[in-house]
Amino acid sequence: MSALPIPLLGQSLSALKDWAVAQGQPAYRGQQLHAWIYQKGIRSLEQVTVFPRAWREAVQSYPVGRSRIVQRTEARDGTVKFLLGLADGQLIETVGIPAAERLTVCVSSQVGCPMACDFCATGKMGYRRNLELHEILDQVLTVQEDFGRRVSHVVFMGMGEPLLNRDTVVQAIRSLNRDIGIGQRHITLSTVGVPRQIAWLAQQDLQITLAVSLHAPNQDLRQQLIPSAAHYPLDALIQDCRDYMLRTGRRVSFEYTLLSGVNDLPIHARQLAQLLQQASRSGVQLHVNLIPYNPISGADYQRPHPARVKAFVRQLEQHQVRATVRQTRGLDGNAACGQLQGSFLRSLPGRNAFASTSAQSAGAS
Ligand code: SAH
Repeated sequence: MSALPIPLLGQSLSALKDWAVAQGQPAYRGQQLHAWIYQKGIRSLEQVTVFPRAWREAVQSYPVGRSRIVQRTEARDGTVKFLLGLADGQLIETVGIPAAERLTVCVSSQVGCPMACDFCATGKMGYRRNLELHEILDQVLTVQEDFGRRVSHVVFMGMGEPLLNRDTVVQAIRSLNRDIGIGQRHITLSTVGVPRQIAWLAQQDLQITLAVSLHAPNQDLRQQLIPSAAHYPLDALIQDCRDYMLRTGRRVSFEYTLLSGVNDLPIHARQLAQLLQQASRSGVQLHVNLIPYNPISGADYQRPHPARVKAFVRQLEQHQVRATVRQTRGLDGNAACGQLQGSFLRSLPGRNAFASTSAQSAGAS
């Protein structure tokens, strides 16, 4: 049985040259292919008009590795959410978020998520599988194609827990940088924390930003919101973040989804500040990113009043912890944090990839 051909998307310039040579073509065809895949964003080899016609026809069915756009939803603020169909019929979501100077893509790293965070739509859906390299890169090319401009920033804050798919995610980061030309400093990996994986990431010599989803200032509350936290004590997580900052010299940012009456009280702000002061003894800057909860179906939380959010920021600042509030983008298009998958899939008649999945799991924005 012959193995399925490896999609071209994700392959380096030298690998593409080797591929061209293996097909009996000169190496520069591989160089052309690299530009057509990553800059022009071809979906099929048929489109590479600089290739000799006979060869183009011979290789036209060789997979580039692009996914199908099943649905596109644009919010009033210009945020666009895509539902993408993968080769095996699974569906994932990706979001393009435009701003004056930047175009950010929020990418998924898994189909579903096994972390089961209680306030996260993806977490309510269960886990299907890890994404492959081309399936991650495709999301960025899709947004680039749709907006007709270069993607400047990538955040791994879509469906899934990136550190459960770490090898492929790190390969994707390298390819985003090397092949698509996105600066590593413009790439953020967000994790809820997986034991030993932050230490592993610190050794990969990347210049990316690490964002850690904290959501609670003490172990008890954190475990209630994030079942997987039971296997990763908060102290150990903070220690790992501290080591990461020391080793990489990169700042870590902490995400904190504010749930009204649950984790947004003055006592929580005080505890959070104390906890982070421990981490900041490494001398590296850290930062809190507050995310007012975006309501999802199947969860009973409330979004805090804006005055409460402001007060939380003030309380952190009084303790010398810098905090910003994440602007909610694309709420009207259901493209906000924690809303990937849910309503979008339900809106597709007869097409719910997760309909038969028992609600086991969790994770993404
Ligand atoms: N699995 C990764 C990526 C998650 S998505 C992680 O957990 O970090 C990015 C952020 O959005 C996470 O901090 C996540 O907890 C948060 N989030 C998920 N659902 C949310 C919701 N309904 N409202 C606000 N933030 C949410």
